[in-house]
Amino acid sequence: MTFHSLGLADELLKAVEQTGYTIPTPVQQQAIPAAIAGADLLVSSHTGSGKTAAFTLPALHKLIDRRPAPGAGPRVLVLTPTRELAQQVEKAVQTYGKALRWLNTACLVGGAPMFAQIKQLQRQCDVVVATPGRLLDHLNRRKIKLSDLEVLILDEADRMLDMGFAEDIDAIVAATPAKRQTLLFSATLDGVVGSMAARMTRNPQRIEIEVAQEDRGQIEQRLMFADDLGHKNRLLEALLGDDSLNQAVVFTATKRSADELSLSLQEKGIAAAALHGDMHQTQRNRTLDRLRQGRIGVLVATDVAARGIDVAGISHVINFDPPRQAEDYVHRIGRTGRAGRDGVAITLSGPRETGLIRAIERFTGDRLAVHTIPGMEPSPRKPSAPRPAGNGGRRFGSGARPGGYGRPSGDSRRSAGGQGREGHPSRGERSHGDRRDRGFRD
Ligand code: AMP
Repeated sequence: MTFHSLGLADELLKAVEQTGYTIPTPVQQQAIPAAIAGADLLVSSHTGSGKTAAFTLPALHKLIDRRPAPGAGPRVLVLTPTRELAQQVEKAVQTYGKALRWLNTACLVGGAPMFAQIKQLQRQCDVVVATPGRLLDHLNRRKIKLSDLEVLILDEADRMLDMGFAEDIDAIVAATPAKRQTLLFSATLDGVVGSMAARMTRNPQRIEIEVAQEDRGQIEQRLMFADDLGHKNRLLEALLGDDSLNQAVVFTATKRSADELSLSLQEKGIAAAALHGDMHQTQRNRTLDRLRQGRIGVLVATDVAARGIDVAGISHVINFDPPRQAEDYVHRIGRTGRAGRDGVAITLSGPRETGLIRAIERFTGDRLAVHTIPGMEPSPRKPSAPRPAGNGGRRFGSGARPGGYGRPSGDSRRSAGGQGREGHPSRGERSHGDRRDRGFRD
């Protein structure tokens, strides 16, 4: 496929040609024709997929025929989470829009002088690229109007929500015409991103771009049996003390147990924090920021709250309570193995939770490899409940969906003492600088 088959205007094709790109990337192949046709889009794609051109080109295509009336507001608005990204997007707009000599752009980001931006807004701006906070400032001061907007683009929507921009985005969207076209790009379309998308799009077309095989981390899945809650707690402590652990998300079944477990880990000197739906959004955002900055080593979370978390440092997912819904298992373990790194997902099963484990295995089509930690093995199980030997540990990519991805890792030398050593998490250090002492590596 070439760019010529996407339906783009000649002026834009010429600009693309000058960049040297000849073949559209998968996200461009799907998103560009759909956006030109006028559909609202929900696109899951990652940085590096060519997503910037995937929304910039069809937006510029829409601008080509008609120049705005003098005094009108912008026709295209791109919201991005950071100043750097906004600047990159503005540059892409200028590159691809080179042939549109009349085209004016403005970049409205925090940390830059207000005055210069106000001056920019006094001339006709066809395309505005902005971070939500600063744009809302301008809106509140009536320095910009969005009533002429035709295309609203949200770039990296999940990151904007993680950064606490939900209310700002809602206020901005409320100032735009209902008949606008909305293109939402995000690493994930699950959880809070999904509900925001539902609020602001009409009959959206969903485009999901698989992460390229080479960019997908491997997730090793393990199962550990525990006799009771005390045994689970000891196993958890040992796992958290493992040298290979950088950051972990520990899943519990309830909000209350997330709070309790996080507190008990904190009392043991582990940099833990809870994340669940009862927490206020700002509190949740603060926790996610700290996780991202590496100041939290262990996040104890419930399913809904942890959906869509994309933090490259998460090396381990530990299911302290196995998920009630087998589908949630796939969402949970996908919190690790991000950004092309490998991950480990360990599920702890109590005696009464083996049914849940079987449901997970049926759902994923993979048998979880049983691991033990020397000295912490479970009591011998009743012979009435034999478990066929694990298949030596299969791995699958972080983009895993049921029914397709399980691919043998080629590594079938899974030893019983899978953690390598009996964990001895050191205690007492809480500061970021001491994370190494608890098995957290920078
Ligand atoms: P993005 O995902 O938008 O951050 O783009 C990632 C990189 O891919 C950027 O450096 C783009 O310039 C580049 N790129 C975008 N589209 C193409 C394409 N069709 N072929 C090759 N490179 C591209």
